[in-house]
Amino acid sequence: MHATSCDFRRALQIASEFSDRVARGSEPRSGSRFGAGVGGEAPSARKAGAPNSQSTQDARARVLEALDAAVIPLDEPFFRGTDSSVTERNRNLRLARNRVKQAEQYRSTERENDFVRERPALVRQMRNKKAGDASRAVPLAFDEHGDFVEPLHGRIPERQALQAKLLLQQGLTGKARRQSWCGLIGRRRDCFSGNAEHRFYTLCFCENRYCPVCGPKSFRQLFNRHSRLRSLGEELLKHQPGDHRPRVMAKLDITTRNLGEMPSAAEVRRFNKDIRRFFRAIEKRFGISRREYGFLWCCEFGSGNTNLHAHGIYVGPALPQRRRELSKLWAEIRGDGSRIVSIKRAKSFEAALGHALKYPSKFFNASPARLVELEVAFDRVRRVHTLARFYNPKIEREPGEDGNTDAGHCPICGDLLLDAPGYHFVADLQREGRRNADVVRVEANRARALAESPP
Ligand SMILES: [Zn+2]
Ligand SMILES: [Zn+2]
Repeated sequence: MHATSCDFRRALQIASEFSDRVARGSEPRSGSRFGAGVGGEAPSARKAGAPNSQSTQDARARVLEALDAAVIPLDEPFFRGTDSSVTERNRNLRLARNRVKQAEQYRSTERENDFVRERPALVRQMRNKKAGDASRAVPLAFDEHGDFVEPLHGRIPERQALQAKLLLQQGLTGKARRQSWCGLIGRRRDCFSGNAEHRFYTLCFCENRYCPVCGPKSFRQLFNRHSRLRSLGEELLKHQPGDHRPRVMAKLDITTRNLGEMPSAAEVRRFNKDIRRFFRAIEKRFGISRREYGFLWCCEFGSGNTNLHAHGIYVGPALPQRRRELSKLWAEIRGDGSRIVSIKRAKSFEAALGHALKYPSKFFNASPARLVELEVAFDRVRRVHTLARFYNPKIEREPGEDGNTDAGHCPICGDLLLDAPGYHFVADLQREGRRNADVVRVEANRARALAESPP
């Protein structure tokens, strides 16, 4: 019943053997976006797996083997139908092998073994990413058979369990692990003041885009972050001296031809590239400069279909579409029969941003198989893109705008909130008399706001 830290340590031991076999190959590919997942995975096991005595050819063979191991075969029959094809996976593997070959000319033979051993670190360097804080790594969730570790048995809700297993089957090991623990465990947070009443916990979330808990939250965050573009949008609506072209704030939707199957992450990336090319072409053809407009877009599939499309906000000189000029230009760029571009005037910046970023919460009621399909299609692909004036704008941050700054402080007295290492099940944390720091913070803020503005 009680999940002690001993259970976790045991779970780590069981799964470290598994991780040695799989994680080396899959980590760089599944590419945890959240560093924490990467750092803590049994470093001793990894070291042991890369002896120096091997010949360089063996080392290369092992890199290739690891790449193969990263793709876990699909056993679930109902999922096979919706998955991107075997051909697709084989193509990805082939490309990955070629990348390994291409990298070779930059390595001396005696460095080859080092390369294998240091690979995770090298990959991080290539992506210019900091190593995760090992103490924050979520415990491993699966044993060597891909079954949940003992502490999770009977604790993980059915839907969540299915989604995590499907992620694992798709080779997204980091995301699978975080999904397994999402919302079930938390960390002890004690107020520096030592006040016994100020003892809290913070929940551990997977932050996967298509997690039913974390997905809607991340869309709200995206909305808040990008609503800062509003003042810039208003500026772009103003006429410049000597330039009286009409200006618009519009919802601009761009779609691709429906191929009847889920596009791969590579195809989603190509779509985003094409949108950039589309705007270069618009600049040339309609005589609009980069300084005069801004465009923000977000890719999606809509619930239950395979039709990749983008919802965007355009602010700048009016674009012609009366004789389907934009649609024709997009068709030229894509060259695959993709045509539809719809442009409609937006009532306000918020309305347009809502149009681009809003996901109805019922969207996340889709089957776990569908949500995993989307997770795969958008793995390591940005969701929200910005162009021209909306790209990297210089906007002064208002104080208190980044809500996260107070996350490190006690919600009651504002003193530092200490972060104890290790994770515990929520029920155990509550039994210790702890409260959820984020919930208490919201309550405290609400009480403060009421006190400041009496009715
Ligand atoms: Zn989650
Ligand atoms: Zn306090």
